[in-house]
Amino acid sequence: MNRIIVAIDGHSSCGKSTMAKWLAREVGYIYVDTGAMYRTVTLFAIRNGLIKNKTDNDSSVWIDEEQLKKQLKDVEISFVLNQETKQPLACLNGEIVEDLIRGMEVSNLVSPIAALPFVREKLTMQQKQMGEKKGIVMDGRDIGTAVFPQAELKVFVTASAEVRAMRRFKELQEKGDQNLDYNEILKNVQERDYIDSHRDVNPLRQADDALVLDNSNLTKEEQNKILLDMFTQAVDKANQSA
Ligand code: C5P
Repeated sequence: MNRIIVAIDGHSSCGKSTMAKWLAREVGYIYVDTGAMYRTVTLFAIRNGLIKNKTDNDSSVWIDEEQLKKQLKDVEISFVLNQETKQPLACLNGEIVEDLIRGMEVSNLVSPIAALPFVREKLTMQQKQMGEKKGIVMDGRDIGTAVFPQAELKVFVTASAEVRAMRRFKELQEKGDQNLDYNEILKNVQERDYIDSHRDVNPLRQADDALVLDNSNLTKEEQNKILLDMFTQAVDKANQSA
């Protein structure tokens, strides 16, 4: 049976990582969360003082692009599997940083970092290598358009900004985050949507041949079933044309 590439793209906090992870486990494929890779570069930039909000009241940011470009050459991003939960954990130069990259500080600064062409170039190259043997489910913003335009299955996931912000709010609340403000999270979701779809290099957009999955009104079970059906059809098609 042919192994295929599954590219899952979509807006922030639309649940694409959860469904991509589920599919990968269900069918025995490797799962790669490319958002985690951009978040890890952002954490690196924060730690090294290479990115800052200009002022407290101003959401625009200052980035030392020259230094980041230089230092990025020695940054290694990888994943290890948590043996108990079987979940992948992002690592920055060998250090597990999974929890650190999920907080609001990284979320607020990741899109400007992800808009830098040299950052995209490095991570896109690594992502292409990860998919060389196929049998992979990768999620992000540009997987079906830039990383794997040849993917046998492309899914574009979406849901309204309000539904996505509420899901993120609950997720952070469950993790014990105390100082949560729904409106701040909604603003972050909308800002990331805007930056992600308006940047010059590989903006978020639906690939022409992507299948759309709007999960605003779907349960997890319903969306997983739709995704698995899409996968089965794509594998059948790949087998027929092999
Ligand atoms: O998927 P997640 O929300 O964790 O991604 C964090 C950010 O990384 C996105 O808002 C986007 O700016 C960036 N990203 C990207 N291209 C990808 C994956 C993520 O630009 N393939």
